[in-house]
Amino acid sequence: MIEVESLSKVYHMGEQKVNALNEVEFCIAKGEFVAIMGPSGSGKSTLMNLLGCLDLPSSGNYRLEGMDIQNLNPNQLAEVRNRRIGFVFQNFNLLPRISALENTELPLIYGRVPKATEIALQALERVGLAQRANHRPTELSGGERQRVSIARALVNRPAIILADEPTGNLDSITGREIMKLFLELNQEGVTLILVTHEKDVAQQASRIIQMRDGKIISDKLNGVQPC
Ligand code: ADP
Ligand code: MG
Repeated sequence: MIEVESLSKVYHMGEQKVNALNEVEFCIAKGEFVAIMGPSGSGKSTLMNLLGCLDLPSSGNYRLEGMDIQNLNPNQLAEVRNRRIGFVFQNFNLLPRISALENTELPLIYGRVPKATEIALQALERVGLAQRANHRPTELSGGERQRVSIARALVNRPAIILADEPTGNLDSITGREIMKLFLELNQEGVTLILVTHEKDVAQQASRIIQMRDGKIISDKLNGVQPC
């Protein structure tokens, strides 16, 4: 599903160059659950942004479901991002002034999908939050906010969910509930790539990739064979 070859990302800061990602290579099969670990600044979020088509590599190839992502124009990239990928972030990234339901509907509205409200309500039900549909994010707990952001990630039935430290702002009990939800989604066939600092979170993955200084320093299985 995902094939990455010599993927590099260089950020230019005035005169300075930052090699955030340095010739990374791997592939991820459909249905895998991969945890990405590594110290702060090792390139984890840079890699997630590339995998999520939020940004393009400086060099190298990224093939997603057979599409050569580095050759797509901005409109095509936005389409792939909206249709095939669900994002979950550490800080939830919900819009504060609109309800849980309206936040969940957003990707459907951008994609001009009919019956947005109905689909969004189903997604909120899926994450156990239908009864909070009309609450704004400020009226929800951290765990509930993260459930809304997972519902929002699910509405377009993405092939892949990318989660960047999704339990980083949650207490350990709430974090475990969120992980249970991710595991269920993975068992339903969603490919899951999750960045975490927490060993017990990573241990639930079928594969753990360790990064340092923009490189993969280890890529170990926990049972499932990668492609
Ligand atoms: P991680 O998520 O593992 O903490 P990042 O991918 O965020 O690491 O960052 C990797 C490196 O790239 C760091 O040195 C960081 O400072 C740098 N970096 C990340 N994003 C940018 C950016 N937009 N502009 C310049 N440098 C960046
Ligand atoms: Mg990061």
